[in-house]
Amino acid sequence: MEQLSVLINGGGMVGAAAALAFAQKGAQVTLLEPKPPSVEENTDPEWDLRISSVNNSNWQWLLGLGIGEDVRHSRVFDYDRLTVTSISGTSLSFHADEAGLSKLGVMVENNALQQALWAQLRALKNESLITDDKLEGFDTLSRTAFLNKGEHLNYDLLLGCDGAHSKVAQAAGIDYRGWDYDQRCLLANVRVEKPIAAETWEVFRSQGPYALLPLTENQACLIDYSKRDDITALEKDKRALESHLKQTFAPHIGDFKLLKSASFALQRKHACHYVKDGSVVLLGDAAHSIHPMAGQGVNLGFADVRCLIETLEQYSQSTALVEYERTRRRENAKMMRMMDAIQFGWRDSNPIMQLATSASLKVAGLPWVKRWLLQQAVGK
Ligand SMILES: Cc1cc2nc3c(=O)[nH]c(=O)nc-3n(C[C@H](O)[C@H](O)[C@H](O)COP(=O)(O)OP(=O)(O)OC[C@H]3O[C@@H](n4cnc5c(N)ncnc54)[C@H](O)[C@@H]3O)c2cc1C
Repeated sequence: MEQLSVLINGGGMVGAAAALAFAQKGAQVTLLEPKPPSVEENTDPEWDLRISSVNNSNWQWLLGLGIGEDVRHSRVFDYDRLTVTSISGTSLSFHADEAGLSKLGVMVENNALQQALWAQLRALKNESLITDDKLEGFDTLSRTAFLNKGEHLNYDLLLGCDGAHSKVAQAAGIDYRGWDYDQRCLLANVRVEKPIAAETWEVFRSQGPYALLPLTENQACLIDYSKRDDITALEKDKRALESHLKQTFAPHIGDFKLLKSASFALQRKHACHYVKDGSVVLLGDAAHSIHPMAGQGVNLGFADVRCLIETLEQYSQSTALVEYERTRRRENAKMMRMMDAIQFGWRDSNPIMQLATSASLKVAGLPWVKRWLLQQAVGK
């Protein structure tokens, strides 16, 4: 890795983790990010709305990169239990004990994680952080990138970690397949009156699931997936929104105070190629955006980074990139198909589908099926 020159476009959670992981392996890394996280400590007592459940395997990997020193502990919450309830009321629970772990994963604020990764990056010597210039294009024959202000940068590997509207994918001529779910995801951070358990849960309904992510003993993020027009109408009237949330969630968690809310459009996008010309590679949301109902998006992105590094350590660059694309496309496509099966199957109001899905949860109660699902949840 010492000889490798890696140019990374995009320093979000995936790009910053990739930059840190490559730099720690000795590669010469240049990271381009127009919106770097602040170096100032965030003193807001409330969590931001953009949070991620990071599975235990990825969390251990991130701690191994050294973020533990920098991540704000008030913005990380361990959870040890996960429960899914089908439309017919059949529930399936997983506990960390069943995987021999103390936790299934953590809830972490995206900003806090990105800030912690950047704090490590800023301390490194073989790392160049460019925040005042942008990638304009690149020539894959000479492996040269052209920046907006006229600078040229040579690279061995150009990593597109620049999210769902990736400039790298666009400049490389990589297309996507996918669709809009015609759904929005409403996120609402609330302060609860009764302490809540370290459990994340999700309940399926015909219009889409609703879920809870615990943030502290007395704060939680409530999530409601519904048709785009229904969420947009609710957001126009704060009182209607609050009463809708109370009707849905109060039976589970008692009374609460709404702190903040916002909604996000949901899309499924999968890049037709992850690799171009033996040197351009897509990772994270630049390669795949999936429905967030199972909290897998950034987990798949971290798995991309880990796989790319592992294959580069084993093979020549050209073989490694073929292996990377083969492995990660298969795994990411599998997860996307699973999300579609849940999205279109478990929410179905057709009684036959209801029977099938509650039967599938019962089947999942079988020890080996449950063990397999548990492995997916903890990221093994
Ligand atoms: C409502 C919701 C809830 C979610 N919950 C979870 C969850 O619980 N667990 C989970 O695993 N995932 C979750 N996800 C998915 C997760 O947020 C994404 O998968 C993750 O943010 C992708 O990270 P990324 O670094 O690949 O891309 P991004 O977060 O999009 O970061 C891209 C970076 O590239 C930069 N950039 C953009 N364009 C350029 C350019 N032209 N040049 C240079 N830089 C550029 C941006 O500034 C940004 O910093 C959720 C998503 C949504 C919408």
